[in-house]
Amino acid sequence: MTPAHEITCAGVFFCVNINKNMLFYKVGYLRWRPESLYDEGMKIVKVDKKGKESLYTTILVMTMIPLLIFGVFATIFISFRVGDTKKAQIAEKLKDIAITVENAYDVMYPGDYQVLKMKKSTTLYKGGESISADTALIDRIKSESDIDVSFFFADIRLATTLTDENGERLYESAAADTVANDVFIGQKDMFYDNVTIDDDLFFAYYMPIYNNDGTCFGMIGVATPVESFDKAALISILQTVVILVLFMIVTAVIIVRSSSKIMMVIMKILEFLRDLSNDKLDARLEDIVLNRKDELGEIGLASSKLQVSLKKLIERDALTGLFNRRAGEKKLDGLLSDGISPTISIGDIDFFKKFNDNFGHECGDVVLKEVAKCLNDAMKGQGFAARWGGEEFLLVFEKLNEKDAAAYIEGILDTLRNMTIEYDGNIHFVTMTFGVAGRKDNEKISEQIRRADAMLYEGKETGRNRVIHCI
Ligand code: GH3
Ligand code: MG
Ligand code: MG
Repeated sequence: MTPAHEITCAGVFFCVNINKNMLFYKVGYLRWRPESLYDEGMKIVKVDKKGKESLYTTILVMTMIPLLIFGVFATIFISFRVGDTKKAQIAEKLKDIAITVENAYDVMYPGDYQVLKMKKSTTLYKGGESISADTALIDRIKSESDIDVSFFFADIRLATTLTDENGERLYESAAADTVANDVFIGQKDMFYDNVTIDDDLFFAYYMPIYNNDGTCFGMIGVATPVESFDKAALISILQTVVILVLFMIVTAVIIVRSSSKIMMVIMKILEFLRDLSNDKLDARLEDIVLNRKDELGEIGLASSKLQVSLKKLIERDALTGLFNRRAGEKKLDGLLSDGISPTISIGDIDFFKKFNDNFGHECGDVVLKEVAKCLNDAMKGQGFAARWGGEEFLLVFEKLNEKDAAAYIEGILDTLRNMTIEYDGNIHFVTMTFGVAGRKDNEKISEQIRRADAMLYEGKETGRNRVIHCI
């Protein structure tokens, strides 16, 4: 059961938190409790901190203001149109009734209209029958459609359904002067939207009636109170306005939903680029952005490509394409935090300087590239290789212990020994010296590297072209 202090409402809810530049919205049910307004699964659209300058606000202003202006103008225009149409419909209906009454009396009582003036009263006849007395037909019209019918001799009412406040028929009352002038004297049928009958305002239609010799005898007047017209028109206008308002709400919800979706994608791209600029080069751009087929998807793809180029630029050594020292250290830290205990080796090309000195710096570069390629290929599936400095390389084994890694490096060294490097028509050979250090518990990584370096030094001291490990 709903607690007494809770209010449940259905509809479209918007809530703005100006301080935090946030817009909340929800379509559906909302239970409102004084202590918390936003815990009903309201969707939060976070607007940029700058508020007014945010793209989201711009989109909303660009779409909502024209929608609002359209809504206001459409409401005014439609209200007028509905009012006019309703008026035209009523005029048509009044005219139909007047013609129907005239035809019906012609059929029921064929012959001319006549009046018989007595001392106290005047009676209207048609085809010899008194229609002042026989008002059954026009009374039925009145009871079914709330429309009053009157017959006039000249401008005097001699048969009518109109009554005064006491219920007495407005018998022998006169039509308004303008009506008499326009319709009886001018012999023109007319619609009036503001005619006063017995102090009340009516919409009325009057048409002249003729006898067989063509003389204008009087008029038939058909009227309905302005008040009932106003009510009917108001209901029609309200119906139209409600439909219009619903349409605007649905449009507004669609705009808010789709623009917040676009904003969400833009925010994801922005967050991704911010991560990249904050050195988080492993940040991932979500598929929701990359799968988009529009320009935002393209911006996402371009940002991802930018990430790849940036990573390459920052993490890779330009000459050899191997990880540089910085990336090597970072990857080592990553392995340790993943709980992996790597075996480390530092390798150094023997007498490398002679390539530079004897064949030029470019030759030295070619040797470095060939050695790097060989090391990189050999380390696939084992861990990774990095250029540690000048002609020194770091090898990291993720799964092999010190002894097995040393044996594996013996294999690499063999490959290197047998490798021929061609430069400028000359064939060159290389050898390397490697120091290997396995992982000790709780040892600092710098200490492990230092131990591998010490082994390398020992290898250089004891003749080069060999692999030395600690145990
Ligand atoms: P050792 O066997 O004792 O290691 O002797 P080595 O000649 O290999 O070592 P040394 O430290 O005397 O010389 C290393 C040289 O590597 C010095 C430096 O100019 C050269 N070098 C460092 N980086 C590059 C590079 O990117 N390209 C080229 N071509 N030479 C480089
Ligand atoms: Mg060297
Ligand atoms: Mg060296």
